[in-house]
Amino acid sequence: MPVPHDYRSIDAASLPVSQAQPRIFLVGRPGAGKGTQGIRLAQRLGVQYVSTGDVLRKAIEAHTPLGTAIEKVINAGNLLPAELIISLVESCIEGDGYVLDGFPRTVAQAVAVTSQASSSPPIALEIAIPSNVALDRLTHRGRSDDDITIARRRLVVYETETVPMLNYLQSCGLLHRIDGDAPADSVEQSIWHRISVVLGASHPAPAVTMPTHRNSLSDVASLFGAVAAG
Ligand code: AMP
Repeated sequence: MPVPHDYRSIDAASLPVSQAQPRIFLVGRPGAGKGTQGIRLAQRLGVQYVSTGDVLRKAIEAHTPLGTAIEKVINAGNLLPAELIISLVESCIEGDGYVLDGFPRTVAQAVAVTSQASSSPPIALEIAIPSNVALDRLTHRGRSDDDITIARRRLVVYETETVPMLNYLQSCGLLHRIDGDAPADSVEQSIWHRISVVLGASHPAPAVTMPTHRNSLSDVASLFGAVAAG
């Protein structure tokens, strides 16, 4: 659905002023619609949209040794090391508010998020779909890591690595679950309704810092080497 030019300012302006720059983490099974919904939500809020998967796929396209190493991990259906992903995310975030798609995916990554000083609590939004729906969507999507064997592996990794992370976020009171097994427009409405309620209800705390330095690809490469070696 095309987003009207002035959509972003209207929606963002309707939010409480103190919450104009929310930090939203979109999580959910592969195929849940995080990309579609993340872009729409970021446009509505007028904040940056970052997808860890997209950033990694761009690194692969660069055909560097780092890209090749990343490709192997992704095409095996596995997760990249937390240190690499956290560094990558930090290097991509440019302002205070954002919608981050695909991060966190493990307890270690979630701990990094929740231990960060901040003016308001982060919002973790799970777009929930059952495994069989995820598998069906993945195998009709046509991405190189959507081959049936890899797709199955990604879903297993989701259960073993990401579900404990969801439990952790839930225990912190940060997790909001949306039913994603519905048409995209209706999921978008549910998300927007929930986000509006959450932003309207939360109260700001003292000011904060969010790392905004940019890591060069070589910084990330050396990190990846260190992680791979360790
Ligand atoms: P996505 O496009 O979000 O499905 O991500 C594609 C692939 O990138 C995943 O299957 C992982 O191999 C890798 N990836 C993306 N985000 C993360 C993350 N937060 N932690 C570890 N690996 C990730």
